[in-house]
Amino acid sequence: MIVLKFGGTSVKDSYWIDRTIDITNNQIDKAPVLVSSAISKVTDKLLSIGKFAEEKNSEGIAETIDSLKKIHFDIANEFLTGRNFEKAAETLNSLFLQLESFSKGLFLLMECSPKSSDMLVSFGERLSTLLIYHRTIERKIDSELLDSRDFIITDNNFTAASPNFTLTDPKVQEFVKPKKGKIIITQGFISSNEDGITTTLGRGGSDFSATIIGSALDAKEVQIWTDVDGILTTDPRIAPAAKRLATISYAEAAELAFFGAKVVHPSTIQPAVKKKIPVIVKNTKNPDCPGTLITKKLDSTGIVGIAGKKSITSINITSYRMLNTYGFLSKIFTIFEKYKTPVDLISTTEVSVSMTIEDTSNIDLIKSELEPIGKITIERNNGIICLVGNNIWKDSKLISKIFKTLSPAPVKMISLGAADVALSIVLSENEIDDTMKKIHKAFFE
Ligand code: ASP
Ligand code: MG
Repeated sequence: MIVLKFGGTSVKDSYWIDRTIDITNNQIDKAPVLVSSAISKVTDKLLSIGKFAEEKNSEGIAETIDSLKKIHFDIANEFLTGRNFEKAAETLNSLFLQLESFSKGLFLLMECSPKSSDMLVSFGERLSTLLIYHRTIERKIDSELLDSRDFIITDNNFTAASPNFTLTDPKVQEFVKPKKGKIIITQGFISSNEDGITTTLGRGGSDFSATIIGSALDAKEVQIWTDVDGILTTDPRIAPAAKRLATISYAEAAELAFFGAKVVHPSTIQPAVKKKIPVIVKNTKNPDCPGTLITKKLDSTGIVGIAGKKSITSINITSYRMLNTYGFLSKIFTIFEKYKTPVDLISTTEVSVSMTIEDTSNIDLIKSELEPIGKITIERNNGIICLVGNNIWKDSKLISKIFKTLSPAPVKMISLGAADVALSIVLSENEIDDTMKKIHKAFFE
């Protein structure tokens, strides 16, 4: 079996839904499971309902629901007919009634908790997959629509839940029975906790759903259909000469995704690695382009891609008491753990520790708890450039070329992952774009 995941722009209107179905139908002999995102912009619109509820703006809510109705009913009207249209319209109406009463509840409470937010956004994928399903019926393609919340089971971390693979894998096997000649359709992004309450895997999480399903069913391949030709050497908005990568390793792809290449959701790779399932990134609008194949470790050496992230905050701790003692780092990390703040990069010497974080919502509390440990300095408005590739560190010529390219921008911190697939450099935020351009030019142009 194979899994094909389509992003919001691949299902944005009746024309593209038909292309999505064509792409899947062309591979119907491979027992495909089609995983779809919500229609482009729909998730954002649903989230705005939550905002309007908090602001007690009933007009905003009504307008948003009307626009969502229009988007989905227009498509249904365009490509569904007769009894099939009536059935689809019936389910659409019932989903919109649910959405309306749910939104009314939020409005009355003037709040939208993470738990409510997940319920709210779940309508997006439920609506898009309903349309895709009825269109396959219209086109007389054998198909089945499943609710992913029945089999993707997560923890209670609403809005960014993590799957429980021990529960999920057997559930996927129980519910999803791919078959040659048939398309199984289900939602990306949405899931449920052990009590059946709706959760989501985080923004962009449909890619993750695809590899979760693929790994539970030992898929031959997971295809991520998006609106770009594949993973590029860097962000083309920064370096227009960015080139498509034909292949990239799991570890490299994960680093690039984590550091800002928005093509695949950062967690996507994890289930694929477990079962060594190839993941292919393809462009719905340019299906003849071979895309990017993400696969096992490659033998290549050197830089394959450059990613950048801004709005990074650095925290430096200096303490002479750290000399020759143990337990320091664990003390520090306990504090970050307490405030659920992920540390991205870390670099240490005998007397100092430097770290970077993105989420600064608890930074004052973290700072005050760190203070007894040593002298704390906090620097906002930094950025990270991540050079991804195998064995970068082992090649001194490469390293010297990198640092020549960097100067004169002052480097604030350097960090190398143990997997030796990424070298991260912290710079001031306003140096990031120019430096990425320069590095791309030096290594790829
Ligand atoms: N619809 C969700 C989002 O916009 C999930 C996804 O598209 O992957 O984030
Ligand atoms: Mg996406």
